[in-house]
Amino acid sequence: MSGGVPVAQPHAFGIAGLLGWPVAHSRSPVIHNHWLARYGIAGRYVLFPVEPENLAAALRGLSVLRLRGCNVTTPHKQAVIPLVDRIDPLAQRIGAINTIVVEADGTLHGFNNDGNGFVQGIRDAQPQWRPDAGPIAVVGAGGAARAIVASLAAQGAREIRLVNRTYERARELEALFGPPVRAVRWSERAEALDGVALLANATDQGMVGKPALDLPLDRLPKHAIVGDAIYTPPVTPLLAAAKARGNATVNGLGMLLNQARPAFNAWFGVMPEITPELVKAIEATF
Ligand code: NAP
Repeated sequence: MSGGVPVAQPHAFGIAGLLGWPVAHSRSPVIHNHWLARYGIAGRYVLFPVEPENLAAALRGLSVLRLRGCNVTTPHKQAVIPLVDRIDPLAQRIGAINTIVVEADGTLHGFNNDGNGFVQGIRDAQPQWRPDAGPIAVVGAGGAARAIVASLAAQGAREIRLVNRTYERARELEALFGPPVRAVRWSERAEALDGVALLANATDQGMVGKPALDLPLDRLPKHAIVGDAIYTPPVTPLLAAAKARGNATVNGLGMLLNQARPAFNAWFGVMPEITPELVKAIEATF
């Protein structure tokens, strides 16, 4: 708990940042510092490498140091839950927090914008698609998958086929979210793509330094959109293969940008825009 230190200083220099271990790879500073400059807001977004044993002390420090809040990344997304004063219902359902807002009274409020960021990223790139447009296959059952499935379900998805290498983890999410989620065995992953409107990769397979996702696309309809939570590289082997057979593809940059918007708004009071200049600034870091 934060101890309720008052922090309301709306005109003071505002600081927000990212708590993680490690954090050096993050593009979030580029995003938030771009917006701070664009909207003429005095502030800075910085990286906070926090070792797991120091997490509780770091959380107490947020209000003591009068920060506006922070993002939370691996490995702290679950561990911060008992350390905040309030948690948003969607973050509670996901079981992880990716954004903390220091309220005016100094209390800490936890949110998770990852899943909504993914869904909005797909909608920005493919405006005709809706979560209820047809069956969805989600690959993965880790933190990103939980967030994506929770948001898809909350936004009206009627059938989510959850494919994961470790079947038990997919079953856990099926039990947690209930219909429309159905766990699918790894051995049936090719068939799971029959008739889908969206295929989402929420594993780390295809990331820089990792092998490609082992998923045959033969049964994927040509009209299906393929979304990847990964944005390094910008075109994963999965997206390259999907593009080559004519599917529309969306990488994880839209997810990153769209989860950042409501966080910036909560910290600095402006709902920022995703502009071509911002996308260019991030792409320059690849
Ligand atoms: P995580 O909790 O560690 O989950 C990893 C998932 O990948 C698990 O479902 C795991 O399956 C699966 N996996 C690992 N190795 C595999 C293999 N060889 N074959 C098949 N599946 C395998 O990771 P996460 O936090 O969910 O992150 C997943 C990805 O999303 C990462 O690349 C991350 O960078 C990305 N992400 C992007 C954003 C964004 O803003 N764009 C936000 C969050 C995360 P098992 O259960 O069988 O181990």
